[in-house]
Amino acid sequence: MIDASYEIGQILLGRLPKGSDLLSGLTDVVKKKAIRSGIIWAIGALESVRLAYYEQDEKRYSELKIEKGVEILSLIGNISEKEGVPFIHAHITVGDKENVWGGHLIYGSKVFAVEYHIIELKGRILSRTFDPETGLFLWQRKTLQG
Ligand code: ZN
Repeated sequence: MIDASYEIGQILLGRLPKGSDLLSGLTDVVKKKAIRSGIIWAIGALESVRLAYYEQDEKRYSELKIEKGVEILSLIGNISEKEGVPFIHAHITVGDKENVWGGHLIYGSKVFAVEYHIIELKGRILSRTFDPETGLFLWQRKTLQG
């Protein structure tokens, strides 16, 4: 089992500007506030969406683009480090009047109006390294013991 425990640091509420990139905007906030571990949520609406689904057998992501306005029903994720810089791993569920889509958040989703909520966690910084078994960059035991 891999886990780590923390104290709570900064708690941030904020809004991203219309027309900005969702993941870039969230990453900029995290970098500006020097958050190295944390939890992130967001709600709001997007003008367009780009998300990904991991093909486990092929060990690669396939992408989905939705070129229309949608609500963010839920965005939830964590903040840790990958290659020495803050990294947000988030999943998002979006919907319109008829459909719901969801997946792994990637760059390329355009903000209509987004409110984010971030809790900084003070303690051991988790670092992502390549995991050959899954093909993903995951938290590894050795970084947790460091
Ligand atoms: Zn993911």
